[in-house]
Amino acid sequence: MPDNVITRFAPSPTGFLHIGGARTALFNWLYARHTGGKMLLRIEDTDRQRSTPEATAAILDGLKWLGLEWDGEPVSQFARAERHREVAEELVARGAAYYCYASPEEVEAAREKARAEGKPPRFFSPWRDRDPSEAPAGVKPVIRIKAPREGETIVDDRVQGVVRFPNKDLDDFIILRSDGSPTYMHAVVVDDHDMGVTHIIRGDDHLTNAARQTLIYQAMGWEVPVMAHVPLIHGPDGAKLSKRHGALGVEAYRAMGYLPSALRNYLARLGWSHGDDEVMTTEEMIQWFEIEDINKAAARFDFQKLEALNGIH
Ligand code: GLU
Repeated sequence: MPDNVITRFAPSPTGFLHIGGARTALFNWLYARHTGGKMLLRIEDTDRQRSTPEATAAILDGLKWLGLEWDGEPVSQFARAERHREVAEELVARGAAYYCYASPEEVEAAREKARAEGKPPRFFSPWRDRDPSEAPAGVKPVIRIKAPREGETIVDDRVQGVVRFPNKDLDDFIILRSDGSPTYMHAVVVDDHDMGVTHIIRGDDHLTNAARQTLIYQAMGWEVPVMAHVPLIHGPDGAKLSKRHGALGVEAYRAMGYLPSALRNYLARLGWSHGDDEVMTTEEMIQWFEIEDINKAAARFDFQKLEALNGIH
């Protein structure tokens, strides 16, 4: 069993804790408890328009009700903006990133042109190779990663296996906006590194991001955490889970009188299995939880199973 495991749950506080988020939190919590490690909580509140204090409070509340206590104080990503800027500048100093002075219109025009030519809508910044002394006066630049144009970036994922991304598809993505705020892609890497996160368990909608984030880890000479990208939950019809499938936020199940232990049991079984066991105590889940047993196929939400478990717990 690995020592000193640090996992994290990193929700964006833009709404209530939904089933998918609660399951991600549960898997991180189970793995931390299974290994005698820690689960940290980071509130990804960099998007000032969409983040609200009410959503943060609702997420913390939902986690507490579910019994998924995190270790230490929750970390606000927004509060770490200075550190994100510092690392972005360090990447420039290392030659792994560059200031790009292209205007948003220029970027959009290049994309439009590529689209019209039937190519992927990419923007190749001329500033990748241009001398910054040629920078136009009064324009605030963004910072872009200098993604390698050749070769591939490999994400060795505990759930998905070895996934290869051709570098030419990764683009010179932005890590710092012209107003000095970090992008999600960058902030996540800096925070995970600084918080000492050893294992990242999250939805597989972040798998492509993992390749881009790997470029940042490599450029900083930081160790890439173990990654486990869990297939998203689907509805009974096989489509991505949404409200129309009857999937509610955690607070709604709470209001309906569901027991936290039933919801925990149900969520654990959504994408993770232990033999044929359907009904388990939290102690058993902690004892049995292994990342290797997370299913590669998307789990399907089944309201009746949840109801049945609520009757048993
Ligand atoms: N804040 C992101 C989200 O809520 C998760 C980031 C991550 O787990 O790396 O989707």
